[in-house]
Parts: sequence; C-alpha cells; structure tokens
Amino acid sequence: MPGKPNVAVFDTTFGMAMEPYAYLYGIDPKYYEKYSIRRYGFHGTSHMFVSGETIKFGKLPEGNQRVIVCHLGNGASISASIGGKCVDTSMGLTPLEGLIMGTRSGDMDPAVVQTIANGENLTVDEVLTILNKKSGVAALSGVSSDFRDLEEAAAEGNERAQLALKAFKYRVIKYIGSYTAAMNGVDAITFTGGIGENDFSVRADVCKNLEYLGIKIDPEKNSVRGKKVQISTEDSKVKVFVIPTNEELAIARETVRVAGLA
Ligand code: AMP
Repeated sequence: MPGKPNVAVFDTTFGMAMEPYAYLYGIDPKYYEKYSIRRYGFHGTSHMFVSGETIKFGKLPEGNQRVIVCHLGNGASISASIGGKCVDTSMGLTPLEGLIMGTRSGDMDPAVVQTIANGENLTVDEVLTILNKKSGVAALSGVSSDFRDLEEAAAEGNERAQLALKAFKYRVIKYIGSYTAAMNGVDAITFTGGIGENDFSVRADVCKNLEYLGIKIDPEKNSVRGKKVQISTEDSKVKVFVIPTNEELAIARETVRVAGLA
C-alpha cells in the first residue's frame, strides 16, 4: 500500500513513563549508557488499555487514580500506574523478570544462572533458554503451563500442581503489596489476561490475602469468566475489577492518533 503511513506501536511504550529510580538496576550506570540496560516492561499495550478502562469503567474520581493491573496469562506481569501513567511494571530488560509465568521463572538471584551453568556445563544462553522456556509453573508442577490443567491436577491432589499454583499466587500477592507501597495506596486493582479473566480461584485466593487493604470480594460476582465486571463488594475499600484486555483495539487507537486520522 504505497504512500500509506506506517505506524509501529511498541509494547514497551507504557513503561517509558517510569522514573529513573524505578527503571534503573542497581548496577553501574555505564551499562545503561553502553547497552541501554534498564527495565522496559512488556505487555505495555495491555497495561495502558486496561488501566485506562479501569479508570473509566470503575468511574474512579478525577485525579491521580492509583491502579494496579494484573495481566495474568501465559506471560504475566503487573503494573502500577497513577492517572494512567506507569509508575512501575514487573517485566524488565526482557519479559523474564517479575512474576512466575507459564514457562518463565520470573525474579531470581542472578547467581542461579552461574550455579546451573557451572553445574550442568551449560552456557549462559542455554540457561536463559531454560529460564524462559522450561521453568515457571510448568516446571514447578511437572504437569503443564496451562492453568486449566493445573487446577484440575491440584483438585485431584497433585501436590506439585498445588505448589505451583501457590507459588504463582504468592508472587502476585507480593507484587500487589509492593506496588501499593510504591504508590502510597491503591484505588483499584484489575485482573486481565487468560488467567486473570477466567480463573476465579486465582482471583479469590489473591484477594483473600489483600484483606489488610480493606478489600472484600463478592464470590458471586467473582464467578464470571471473560467479562467486564466489578468483583469487589460495595463496601470494599479498594475496587477490584475483571476487565478483558484488548491489545488490538489499543493498537488501532494509537495508530489513529499517531497517523492523525481522527
Ligand atoms: P493468555 O496468554 O493471556 O492468552 O492466557 C493463556 C492462559 O490463560 C492459558 O495458558 C491458561 O493458563 C489460562 N486460561 C485460559 N482459560 C482459562 C480458564 N478457563 N481457567 C483457567 N485458566 C485459563
């Protein structure tokens, strides 16, 4: 299509709003200058869309709405944003950082790489392939990366599947706690992604550990799959939502804006 505008929408754009104290690693800044090593954040298109929808759908009061979005899918990440602007997000230089995912390890002491590489006689690249493709809940459970399989196995008494689910939820709970601290509070928490939209027991178990924030979940409202809905009770101190992500729509909107088509 000659003469037509070409638009690239980067999945890292949302994370560009982070402040240096949030995006820099605790290493010599010469590595940032030489190799652009910093935290970028991925799933940015989804986090941007869902945090915006949370403000609109949740009718959050005008101003600096503090929103945590839990994008829980095969890849999983969490973001904190104020007024739609990213404050922090759990993926880093690559999508490997942060939550335990389907096949990715998430946060780890980097010395684990050295220990596995030396112990198994592998290169750093080979260990990183393991951490990206052969880790996460799939490796912890020995069952699957798919939460439908994990829930089924756990219900049948498979202890490794139970452990994998627990480890996944534990880290989500920890990230929500740290992002609440980073923003000095939170007004709304939204679940999205294949797991966030469908797995109500993950949502229920995570929220059970957020009672210290005054969060109360209505089990009936939480029993939905793939629908835009408020799952917190009216007297919950923090609103909790399920909002299906729509990255295609977000990309289309950005394209219209950047190409000046509106
Ligand atoms: P995504 O990467 O966002 O497309 O999410 C895909 C993942 O969502 C799958 O690997 C499953 O783990 C999870 N998922 C999809 N449907 C369900 C469901 N009904 N219950 C639990 N998990 C689900």
